[in-house]
Amino acid sequence: MSLVNDARLVARGLRSAVSAPALPWKLTCAVTWRCAQRCTHCRIWRRPAGDELTVAQWARVFASVGPALSWLDLTGGEVTSRADFGALARAALDACPSLALLHFPTNGENPGAVEAVARELQGGHARFVVSISLDGPPQLHDRLRGDPGAFDRAVDTWRRLRSLGVESYFGMTLSDYTVAHVDATRAALADAVPGFRRTTSRTRRWPTAPGAPHPPTSWPSSSGAGASRATPRTSWSGSTSATCRRTSALAARRCRAGRWR
Ligand code: SF4
Repeated sequence: MSLVNDARLVARGLRSAVSAPALPWKLTCAVTWRCAQRCTHCRIWRRPAGDELTVAQWARVFASVGPALSWLDLTGGEVTSRADFGALARAALDACPSLALLHFPTNGENPGAVEAVARELQGGHARFVVSISLDGPPQLHDRLRGDPGAFDRAVDTWRRLRSLGVESYFGMTLSDYTVAHVDATRAALADAVPGFRRTTSRTRRWPTAPGAPHPPTSWPSSSGAGASRATPRTSWSGSTSATCRRTSALAARRCRAGRWR
């Protein structure tokens, strides 16, 4: 199933490169602004949660692009802040028969909630991937997130997902706070999870000139002034979990994104 879905994704990407699709084939949907963590590099937790679309409203959104959609990212905030997140993601699967990849990131703050959602989504027709955010080795991660014990809970989340057979990765957002700690993070994970390994390494260079074009953002709610994160989030097609958020301080710097499993 995974190979078939990957092939469908590649074919869809190639098709969109030669002719503009009438409907989007990839969507990133921010389904909540709620989050219990207090990351230094993020403004989401500072903003009011506001009204959220209901599951039924999201289902209408998904239905409007359903036949065309191949790749869906559901993000936040922390998606498991919504008690109905499993139902929301299930609505996406039901409305999108061609979906090849369903991904959501989590801060891993609530391992039980993530595990429950994963159980609900297992066995769908789309490849299902969860990425767990890390900012560094335990002390740094907990400090940047304002949340003692956050690293251990993130690792617990990963263990639970793996024990279910869910494809899951750790992802690290590089910023001035974290860029020097990639290797220490990998070492901490190797200590926490014997046999843990890094599977890919990617290097991207951000544009060096102010105002130079950069990969298109897929953050749907970033248009309002101060509406979302302090740092735009950029997703690259071809990678299921390696994402990097550009900071102005990093705009002229090499940015590496790693994923580990
Ligand atoms: S970066 Fe993620 S986990 Fe951290 S405060 Fe923002 S939404 Fe929450």
